[in-house]
Amino acid sequence: MALRYKLRSSESILANSVETITPEGVSQPPLQERGFYDSYFTAPLGLVLASSANFLISWSCALLSGSRPLFASAVLMSAILALRLAISVFCAIAPNCCSRERVVQVMMASETVLSANIGLFGALSLMLPIDGDLQLLALVYALTYASAMTIRCADRPELARAHMAIIAVPTIMAALYVGTPAMLVLALVVPGLAVTMDTLTQSVHRDLCNIVQNSQERKVASEQYEFLALHDGLTGLLNRDGFHLSLEEMITLCGPGQRIALLWFDLRNLREVNESQGYTAGDKLLCEMARRMRACTPENAVLARFGSDEFLLAVPVDSRHHAEQLVTKVSDHLHRPLRLDYAVVEAGTAIGVAIFGEDSATISHLMQSANIALMQAKVQDKRSCFYVPAMGEERAERKEMERDLRAALSREQLEVHFQPLIDLDSGRICSFEALVRWTHPQRGEISPEVFIPLAEETGQIITLGNWVTAQAAQAAATWPEHIKLAVNLSPTQMRAPGAALGILHALRLAGLPSHRLIIEVTESIFLEDCVHARHFMDDLSRAHVHFALDDFGTGYSSLSYLHRYRFDKIKIDRSFVCGPQVGPHSDAIIRAVAGMGHKLGIEIVAEGIETVEQVESVRRAGCTLGQGFYFSRAVTSQEAQKLLDQEENHLSHFLVAQ
Ligand code: C2E
Ligand code: MG
Ligand code: MG
Repeated sequence: MALRYKLRSSESILANSVETITPEGVSQPPLQERGFYDSYFTAPLGLVLASSANFLISWSCALLSGSRPLFASAVLMSAILALRLAISVFCAIAPNCCSRERVVQVMMASETVLSANIGLFGALSLMLPIDGDLQLLALVYALTYASAMTIRCADRPELARAHMAIIAVPTIMAALYVGTPAMLVLALVVPGLAVTMDTLTQSVHRDLCNIVQNSQERKVASEQYEFLALHDGLTGLLNRDGFHLSLEEMITLCGPGQRIALLWFDLRNLREVNESQGYTAGDKLLCEMARRMRACTPENAVLARFGSDEFLLAVPVDSRHHAEQLVTKVSDHLHRPLRLDYAVVEAGTAIGVAIFGEDSATISHLMQSANIALMQAKVQDKRSCFYVPAMGEERAERKEMERDLRAALSREQLEVHFQPLIDLDSGRICSFEALVRWTHPQRGEISPEVFIPLAEETGQIITLGNWVTAQAAQAAATWPEHIKLAVNLSPTQMRAPGAALGILHALRLAGLPSHRLIIEVTESIFLEDCVHARHFMDDLSRAHVHFALDDFGTGYSSLSYLHRYRFDKIKIDRSFVCGPQVGPHSDAIIRAVAGMGHKLGIEIVAEGIETVEQVESVRRAGCTLGQGFYFSRAVTSQEAQKLLDQEENHLSHFLVAQ
């Protein structure tokens, strides 16, 4: 779990690192901890050489001068040197045997005692009546040692100063004690040397600090880059790359029989929140959903944000049942309403689930399966969907159909047919609904109920819809003035930029006045995107385009839409008119809707009239217009023209039962 640990903990790295690189200064570990004393452990040769020089000089002076105090000092020095060498060699051989801090403390203490001894040795040499060469040797050694120590202790200038002081002060005092002119000059020069060395030490110290600071900043920056490369900047969750790495690791560490559930989430209302409340609110929604996901998933889960409103969650599970429980728990948690700045949002997600070890054996297949399950959940408007192999086949078939539809669109293999809407009082045609038809070269006629949802899903509906509107408007422009044209419009078409202008442009090109167009929409346009729906309808209503609410009774049938938006027609879905569920119940519903339409001045259309009895029944219930196979199926534009001509010449008249 090393990587996941690293990835998870890198969240705190980001937080900490931001704190570290503040303009006020870098909070870094003290310079002293950064390895000056490591040479004791890693390279004892320097210590051996310095100790040898120390040993040689002290014993030369002591033995050649025959002085007892120098002898005593040489003994003490040798003991200290031996101790230091022993520690150093021991640490080099067995670096993990004792604590580094303790060794550093002992070495520092012994170094201080050694400096004091060298200072004393130098001072004694000056004061004792010994050979001048030996005095010179001891003095040079003492001052060289003091200078070397100040540089050695550049990481702690106070310590460097102390070493210099405990050597220089006895030397100066001894020189003053001797009092010869040369010694007085020495007493004068040594403080200068001390100050110069101190200045040098300070400068080296500053440079060292800068080097350490730069290297630390580089380290922090590289940690931040690493974090950003693997995480989503907004939610702090893993991104695509981070997720792949973590999932690979989870799979590698997965024991036999262990399964991994992959949950692919799609937030339902991010676009709506972005558009109605702004992007800050959208960001808050994303962060809150990320927080909720984290809060209700186990510690060992891997969570990531993919793209704008998609999240992925990988969790080790024992069985499918375990995965189902987890999905229910997470889904319930995510569906709790949440308060953003201005409103309470009905939070929600669709979840596609696939299980590694059952549905898939590779990461790419697992991801593909979870994504297919997500599509299924979205198409079926379910909270969650578990992958089953049949979905894969269905998906492949859909992909093929998607390709064929694209080809059909570009080769103009589609056709627009027209189905008349009849005034149930006069029996005359008052409008035609444009219905698209696709005859596939191999599969034959494909129902719009199959390919329209596909076109919506893939975005092809925009091209398709524009084409239908243009074709239908051209045909309708040749019809008598009082005959209107109805076209169906899907939510995706309505959301396309400049949708309203596009429709008006198509009407202008065809020469069809805009008041002759009726746009049929279903309630789904309000469910998915109220803001766009309002703008779209307002723009076209201003241009005198009419609206019909299609398939009424199949969705929420919310009366609030009728209150808020201006509809000229309500089309009662054909399931209330023909089909197995028709009876007193559906009759009562038609009656109620027709009564409401009458009071609101909205025409009520009964769809799916197939028999004369149904004509009679819907008319009695109060419907003013009818549409259905009883009157005519959807026909080509030439046939539609023929129907109009016959009606115009009083050659025919749709039979309306009385
Ligand atoms: P819709 O707008 O409710 O269209 C009416 C559907 O009812 C048509 O099916 C029509 O053929 C069918 N229908 C009419 N009379 C009867 C009847 O007496 N009995 C029965 N059983 N059915 C009847 P179609 O053409 O298969 O269209 C299905 C749906 O596809 C349409 O429902 C509409 O939502 C969509 N659609 C069709 N063409 C277009 C289009 O150009 N653009 C868009 N966005 N959607 C379209
Ligand atoms: Mg329709
Ligand atoms: Mg309909």
